[in-house]
Amino acid sequence: MLIKNVDIITENKPDEIIYGASILIKGDTIERIIKNGEPLPNDTEIIDGNGMIAMPGFVNTHTHCAMTFLRNYGNDMNLQDWLFKKVFPAEDKLTAEAVYWFSKLAYIEFIKSGITTHVDSYFFMESSARAVEEAGIRAVLNRSVSGISDPDGEKLKESSSFFRTYNNSCSGRIKSVLGAHSIYTSDEKYIVKVVEEANKIGSGLVTHLCETQKEIDDCILQHNATPVEYLDRIGYFDVDGMKIAAHCVHMSDNDIDILARKNVSAAINMSSNLKLASGIADVPRLIKSGVNVSLGTDGASSNNNLNMFNEMRLAALVYKGLTLNPEIMNAETVLSLATANGAKAILDNNIGVVAEGAKADIVLIDTNSPSIAPTNELAPAVVYSAGAGDVNTVICNGKMLMQNKELLTIDENETVWNVKYFARRILSR
Ligand SMILES: [Zn+2]
Repeated sequence: MLIKNVDIITENKPDEIIYGASILIKGDTIERIIKNGEPLPNDTEIIDGNGMIAMPGFVNTHTHCAMTFLRNYGNDMNLQDWLFKKVFPAEDKLTAEAVYWFSKLAYIEFIKSGITTHVDSYFFMESSARAVEEAGIRAVLNRSVSGISDPDGEKLKESSSFFRTYNNSCSGRIKSVLGAHSIYTSDEKYIVKVVEEANKIGSGLVTHLCETQKEIDDCILQHNATPVEYLDRIGYFDVDGMKIAAHCVHMSDNDIDILARKNVSAAINMSSNLKLASGIADVPRLIKSGVNVSLGTDGASSNNNLNMFNEMRLAALVYKGLTLNPEIMNAETVLSLATANGAKAILDNNIGVVAEGAKADIVLIDTNSPSIAPTNELAPAVVYSAGAGDVNTVICNGKMLMQNKELLTIDENETVWNVKYFARRILSR
């Protein structure tokens, strides 16, 4: 496959753009980037890239895909009330079949908005794996566990067994990771067990961390330490593998220093933190301190979209408003958070860039769209003007998932119908 005559935001070197080039894809890999004027192969399928921006697929480093069924349910509440009064009771009624359809709905939104890779923390992960395989996207699947819902440790065993079966499966498109949901849904004994299991099977760890002020205050009262200091003491950040802390809203200088030293990536969820009135993570400070910062959408119930354009826009605008400094987060930095930094968070150096030898995870954005033309400067065009409606074509692992806005791997009508059916059954019970 040859994407011909396209402007490329590579994310391979800082702010690098290659104009009018062609991208030759062989199998799942970008074989060559052919500069304007060099001879082109003619024995391959041609995709016309004229008037398009090619960029790496977005990496959404924190989400809960099947929570699409709770979209527009339990709104305008704080995290604790939303989670314990609305989300957890509804999730108790989930089935494997329902999770399959709810996840597929998320994947439709992902593909249509250019997300090719995501980190999903949920349960019934075999259903998610089946849906990921069919959808053609890339995923890190975490069978999320918590002490309050796992008195006999069976769910941790299930999570560990899922990791051993699915990590690096599906031609490498599926990875897995362990993780305790949060410090406020597990006691210390349980979190220690999760760390021990991760060390035993060679898994990294993900978790929700420092999301609300209440989490910090309760932790200091109970453990005489901030959540980061507490998890560090337990060894949570000493495992070998990907380490992702979702949210990182309320953090001391020492907390940030620990994350930087222990190579823990932050997954920032701007919309979710704003909607649940949790606060605003200090992304500029995290970056300055050397933490790898990436972006997540969180679940559809606290956002209520799964769209990285929304997250990038907030990340680019909010800090300008807070600091009155227009240079504090430029478009190029924000675009890296949503692509290359996400790849770094999941320790996958084959994605997050458009470069020779990288996996072919490529999004084409139509610059003739009325909402983004003219695209005088490419990265700002993507961050400040583009939206999901401007995504024209999506390729993941060398396979076409959407072409000229036509979804190729998922039946949209069938999925929406099933999601509405199962959501109604669950929420009316
Ligand atoms: Zn979350």
